[in-house]
Amino acid sequence: MTDPVLSVRDLRVRFRSGGRETQVVHGVDFDIRGGETLALVGESGSGKSVTSFALMRLLPEAPRCRISGSVRIGGVELLELSERRMAAIRGPRIAMIFQEPLTSLNPVHRVGDQIAEAIRFHRRMSRSAIRARVIELLSMVGIPDPARRMHAYPGEMSGGMRQRVVIAMALALEPDLLIADEPTTALDVTVQAQILELLKDIQRRTNMAMLFITHDFGVVAEIADRVMVMYAGRIVEGGELAEVLSSPRMPYTRGLLGSVP
Ligand code: ADP
Ligand code: MG
Repeated sequence: MTDPVLSVRDLRVRFRSGGRETQVVHGVDFDIRGGETLALVGESGSGKSVTSFALMRLLPEAPRCRISGSVRIGGVELLELSERRMAAIRGPRIAMIFQEPLTSLNPVHRVGDQIAEAIRFHRRMSRSAIRARVIELLSMVGIPDPARRMHAYPGEMSGGMRQRVVIAMALALEPDLLIADEPTTALDVTVQAQILELLKDIQRRTNMAMLFITHDFGVVAEIADRVMVMYAGRIVEGGELAEVLSSPRMPYTRGLLGSVP
């Protein structure tokens, strides 16, 4: 088997405020390999987003927040990197997309310019090559008439189209790992299915690893190869998708599965 793209060992996250300390992630372990989609599923407040922010080093600094354990990507220990070196990892190594596309998009810049900026982040290319790549990425994510739509502002697009633009921006970075934190939760069911199909298609073509976060087992069933179930900051169950769907061990997992038709 190939080496994992990402290895997480004994990850713990504690927050401190007003002299009180609360631990929200309690020793999480997992690996993800290239081309694989691992779903992190759990009810709201279980610690899924905090886990993903810890991987991206996007949590508050100590003493407000303390992270321990190990997060290795391509042999590099992220928890020990300076902020400057971490900034070079975000993007080409790990990119992240969020539930609300406007978190990632600047409302006053044209979408094509924002994708162009993501390309320039790690590649030196001529203006015309960048423009061609922007159009290629927009058509890859299913934006119709990309040569025209690249001039639109985020506010001129629907939520589903905006999320496609965000995915194009993430792909522009050619990451080894994409973390998707509830990327379809804010979208209606039809658009949600289209975005899941798009992500699956991209993975088939690029061998990117994906950590897909959701509270919805219906989405997990559509997209995951493997599943880990989080409850109160701990992974309480994990395994191959078919195994978890057909014979969940924990009552909590069966409760989450209750929502799958
Ligand atoms: P999920 O994504 O699974 O819905 P989160 O990871 O967002 O849950 O939150 C897990 C827990 O951590 C929650 O109890 C939340 O209130 C707490 N939490 C999240 N961010 C912070 C923060 N910056 N400071 C203190 N507590 C936080
Ligand atoms: Mg969350």
